[in-house]
Amino acid sequence: MSDPVLRPGDVAPDVPGETVIIAIDGPAGSGKSSVSKQAARRLGYGYLDTGAAYRALAWHVLEHGADTSDASAVLDASGDFVLSISLDPDAYSVRVADVDVTEAIRQPRVTDAVSGVARVPAIRESINALFRTLVASCGRPGVVVEGRDITTVVAPDAPVRILLTAAPEVRAARRSAEITGQDATEVAAALHLRDATDAKVVDFLTAAPGVAVVDSTDLDFDETVEAVLAVARRAEGEHDHV
Ligand code: C5P
Repeated sequence: MSDPVLRPGDVAPDVPGETVIIAIDGPAGSGKSSVSKQAARRLGYGYLDTGAAYRALAWHVLEHGADTSDASAVLDASGDFVLSISLDPDAYSVRVADVDVTEAIRQPRVTDAVSGVARVPAIRESINALFRTLVASCGRPGVVVEGRDITTVVAPDAPVRILLTAAPEVRAARRSAEITGQDATEVAAALHLRDATDAKVVDFLTAAPGVAVVDSTDLDFDETVEAVLAVARRAEGEHDHV
């Protein structure tokens, strides 16, 4: 398959009914990425980190020297954005054109810029279209898709929809354990600021009707994965195709 190209204004295709989506939303530091990846491995599913697409675009806009808080500058810079994301949970990689940005998109400068890019409606529509294309062409029976608006906008009809939460102080502590070399108080402040900015665009702090809440505050990693898989198994009892 050729790399999908992001074009602002693209129309999202429907996801074929046969690809099962497990939709997982949640704030930064909830454990979403690592838990979703492991759940995908356990199920033999693909794994789609939607935040990585927004991060890759933020990286690309910064490479252009454009201002990520200026919507029209973001749209201009996105004109030649070519993104490819691997959906294999064991070979995760993100590329912009021929540059591997898997590591670069985790840099604090990208994390600080990403909310500006993600708040542009035309960008969200194009990226959502790209997600549907990626899921449709994954070649696995299902995909665990994680982000902020998956349960509500990208895949509101998914048979399994989960909001993964954790207490703010636990999320901040987890994030600062991941990021070495940065002051813990600064990491916590940046995380809460990003959540507050992102929450103005999509509400990922309260569960939409029909969305199961998994609170990982008092759970370790394995227990959180089990809790997510338990929701999926419960749904299997209700739908015959999960
Ligand atoms: O999940 P992660 O922290 O990598 O997401 C990076 C950013 O991408 C978020 O802070 C948010 O601005 C944006 N995002 C989004 N919608 C998604 C996933 C991520 O707006 N579905």
